[in-house]
Amino acid sequence: MKQKKSWYEKDKAYVWHHMKPYQKDGHAMVVKEAQGAWITDIEDNKYLDAMSGLWCVNAGYGRKELVEAASQQLAAMPFYPLTNSHTPAIELAEKLREWLAGSYRIVYANSGSEANETAFKIARQFHRQHGNPHKYKIISRYRSYHGSTLATLAATGQAQRKYLYEPLPEGFIHVRAPDSYRKPEGFDDKAWNLACAQVMEDAILFERPETVAAVIMEPIITGGGILIPHESYVKQVEKVCRKHDVLLIIDEVICGFGRTGKKFGFLHYGIKPDIVTMAKGITSGYLPLAATAVREELYESFQQTGENDHFRHVNTFGGNPAACKLAVRNLELMEQENLCQRAEEKGAAIKKALMKLFDHPHVGDVRQKGLLIGIELVKDKDTKEPVDDSYSTEVVQACKKHGLIAGKNADTVSGYSNIINIAPPLSLTDDDAAFIS
Ligand code: PLP
Repeated sequence: MKQKKSWYEKDKAYVWHHMKPYQKDGHAMVVKEAQGAWITDIEDNKYLDAMSGLWCVNAGYGRKELVEAASQQLAAMPFYPLTNSHTPAIELAEKLREWLAGSYRIVYANSGSEANETAFKIARQFHRQHGNPHKYKIISRYRSYHGSTLATLAATGQAQRKYLYEPLPEGFIHVRAPDSYRKPEGFDDKAWNLACAQVMEDAILFERPETVAAVIMEPIITGGGILIPHESYVKQVEKVCRKHDVLLIIDEVICGFGRTGKKFGFLHYGIKPDIVTMAKGITSGYLPLAATAVREELYESFQQTGENDHFRHVNTFGGNPAACKLAVRNLELMEQENLCQRAEEKGAAIKKALMKLFDHPHVGDVRQKGLLIGIELVKDKDTKEPVDDSYSTEVVQACKKHGLIAGKNADTVSGYSNIINIAPPLSLTDDDAAFIS
């Protein structure tokens, strides 16, 4: 017991946790090991991790194949920068192009934030290469999250994460994302989604198309409340972007790698993004790695002479050989075990079981795509007023008492901190799925 106590004491004394207020009383959970979909804390309590760490351990914990791939690569060649190249980076780029079902050029980084920063830089330089130096603005949606660095925070549409760090870089515009559960009266889902796509076009027009470089969006808003758009919205946004020569950046940091039941979330919607950003599930969270996939035609326009002859960007650790090798193995393993299909099937089964929750007076909506599930809690089903943050916190704590780690979104400024998130490893067993249900 003395040893356990000292971990808690040292943690409180030395570690600055992400996204948590200082805890005067109590302590954080300290985890020591993990296997499959389950984690074990230092008191030997076991929990089903229905958040896959932080939406990333898609292939599950304890996969020896992944550990071996990384350790063999570390022994063979632990590091080489991508100012030149190395074989694991090439191998992974080839595999990612297969997964993306298109011709994309891969730029590596270490985190989702960096992948999105890279996308913004490429979009701006691309327009310069084409003689449009004033096309620099990025449009994103309220309730979205795109990262923790200053520019990606500027793109993020969640005020509570931003206001303490303002002023943020300028040139980031936000519009409303369709939230089908809260559509205004008189609209059906498709009409509401198309109205929101029109809002996107209006923003481009009001800002003037010659100043807008790109739109960035997740196929499904994840951390901001699991907002699943109607197919017509995503297609219409793509059309609007093409019409106004605005690049479409799709943020697949959470939606990618099988989470929504397909290899990438955008594949549900029949669109062809200009840039796709990814991280988290690319290595199932085992090592840091991220990628910005850029449509080949865009890359080609960087093949010029003079000052525009290359992308002036470097990232020392981006595309680390061991991380790339592990990622290749991770994608192979996901293919061998049909994990995308498993996400689709298990997600649908869990959603079916969760429909019983609708009998509860505070459950307003249950949304699901693959193993991305959101349960929206409201004070009153008619008014749809969100429950207070303390209520959803209690729900998450109650889940933990019963051995389940669930998440919740944290938008305490807008009041939307009322959505409980379930996103377990795609490799979960049938018993795990039954446990969640
Ligand atoms: N984009 C989305 C949609 C995310 O959910 C996140 C992180 O949760 C990021 C970008 C940023 O990724 P990272 O935390 O790896 O920088």
